[in-house]
Amino acid sequence: MRILLAEDDALIGQGIKTWLKPRGFETDWIKDGAAAYAALPCAPYDAVVLDLGLPSMDGLEVLRRWRRDGRTEPVLILTARDELSERVRGLNTGADDYLVKPFEPEELEARLRALSRRSAGRPTPVIRCGDVVLDQGSRMVESAGRAVPMTAREFRLCEILMSGVGRTIPKDLIEEKMGDLYEDASPNSIEILVHRLRRKLGQGFIKTVHGIGYTVPRD
Ligand code: CA
Repeated sequence: MRILLAEDDALIGQGIKTWLKPRGFETDWIKDGAAAYAALPCAPYDAVVLDLGLPSMDGLEVLRRWRRDGRTEPVLILTARDELSERVRGLNTGADDYLVKPFEPEELEARLRALSRRSAGRPTPVIRCGDVVLDQGSRMVESAGRAVPMTAREFRLCEILMSGVGRTIPKDLIEEKMGDLYEDASPNSIEILVHRLRRKLGQGFIKTVHGIGYTVPRD
């Protein structure tokens, strides 16, 4: 998942980024409101974490402009405990959820996963394709009822392909969605991961669409 984080507090921003990275999130962290406003259309974000008190443009104004521009990305706002009216205004302005500072990073992570599932029209964290079941909540994959152990990168690729079942996912979009999990990898890493997933889930599970990318066919 790729997250846009707009937060000017260095400790909170770094804390969020550090927590999310090993859990399969790539976080683009921006500390300024106007820059955050400009950044949203620049990448395929799955969700936004938006602090309300930001330099140069406050969070509510950023949100108002995004919604005016027709941006539909799910937005979670961060507010201080005494900002009840701000919270209400945020929700009225088009925020999808909020967290009151201080919060536990586990809760932020869970809410981001829920927001991204809701926005993808999938209210449950379980995706099924034939015999293969992927649980985004527990991060487990089963094939024909058997648990299949996976590395973080294998799981992420499987999640990307199964989320788009029946569609061909271009290779560059896969790389983009792998985020930080991809950047550490070798040039042919997607091919290698696909090879490993086929060994674990069956040769026919992922089809290569030559020159474009990969697809998990609908059964
Ligand atoms: Ca702030």
